[in-house]
Amino acid sequence: MLKTGFVGWRGMVGSVLMNRMIEENDFCGFEPLFFTTSQAGQKCSDIGIDIPVLQDAYDISKLCQMDIIVTCQGSSYTEKVLPDLRKCGWNGFWIDAASKMRMDKDSIIVLDPVNSEVIDNAISSGIKNFIGGNCTVSLMLMAVGILLKKGLVDWITTMTYQSASGAGAKNMRELLSQMNCIGEKLKNLVDDPQVPILAIDKKVTQTILSSTFPVKNFPAPLAGSAIPFIDKLMDSGQTREEWKGCAETNKILQTTTDKPVPIDGICVRIGAMRCHSQALTIKLNENIDLDEICQMIEESNKWVKIIPNTPDDTAKYLTPAAVAGNLNIALGRIRKLNIGPKYLSAFTVGDQLLWGAAEPIRRIFKIIVLKQTIS
Ligand code: NAP
Repeated sequence: MLKTGFVGWRGMVGSVLMNRMIEENDFCGFEPLFFTTSQAGQKCSDIGIDIPVLQDAYDISKLCQMDIIVTCQGSSYTEKVLPDLRKCGWNGFWIDAASKMRMDKDSIIVLDPVNSEVIDNAISSGIKNFIGGNCTVSLMLMAVGILLKKGLVDWITTMTYQSASGAGAKNMRELLSQMNCIGEKLKNLVDDPQVPILAIDKKVTQTILSSTFPVKNFPAPLAGSAIPFIDKLMDSGQTREEWKGCAETNKILQTTTDKPVPIDGICVRIGAMRCHSQALTIKLNENIDLDEICQMIEESNKWVKIIPNTPDDTAKYLTPAAVAGNLNIALGRIRKLNIGPKYLSAFTVGDQLLWGAAEPIRRIFKIIVLKQTIS
């Protein structure tokens, strides 16, 4: 039976992966072994299935016994362990949520509802490294990837509204601490209808900008504010997050390297918990009817949901709060811009811990297990 090692399974992405695997009854057809970088020899906390004692995630000889390794541990772990494993001749499948190897020649970025042909070809041709994509890119492609696949897109701008979870668990806690801090400082004022709103607003700003406001993980206060810079600055003036939009999309779709579809925009952190939103402007290659576009999108995968362009539907279905915790990719505010008939505008929301992180990993794992079991 196939042996699979799980690393990083108790982190935020790893926990979502474990929950989804349990929900989908995925723990069958292989023998799981659980690894840790910090708790080797300990008993595993309860995740809903029986788990033997935890193994050392740096034990190369133990890892070499695995047919598949699934890791949600992070790039530094990948960087430290994978080269040693390959040097030892390990030829197993490496499935990774971290960004470290995404752009490597011998890696495939996985998002099977969008690039299953690319994945199938890669497995047949002996590729062994399968990496989850950037969350914003995966969510955008789940929504409108079909238009790119059909060659209908000249370029896209994506202006993002990214949640705290994309920055990690500590940042989610920090956002809540910030909200709490504002709530506590303002409680008496908010409850008193006699206090003028501008006095309340002034106190909010003072609180956010005070030196005691909890800002350790984000580069600036996020609650009551927004941060239009995610990740590092690149020579192009883009942030690394913005650079990934074009680089990863074209790699996922394996667009011919001499003619990548230009994609760019501004990535902004906002105070949502786990859903990323994006406002898209898509320049089409031709004037395609809006109904035809919606039909293509709806038929492209079973998770994308077109939300009618009404205030009620938008408020009910097209917000981070409405989408959090489920696999649906909401796509609404779809219309042609008055700039011209080839300019399409849309707004999309998706859970970045599900389709943005754990779900593509869960699905590529199942695909590989199935293919290996058959062969
Ligand atoms: P994380 O929550 O910080 O977990 C990483 C590891 O930290 C865990 O596997 C665990 O490893 C260790 N850890 C130490 N103390 C812990 C505690 N109290 N609770 C849980 N784990 C603890 O990392 P993550 O946000 O899941 O991200 C993992 C990787 O996925 C990163 O490469 C990230 O870039 C990538 N990714 C993240 C997102 C996202 O939205 N956050 C999206 C896509 C990809 P041991 O058991 O070995 O100690």
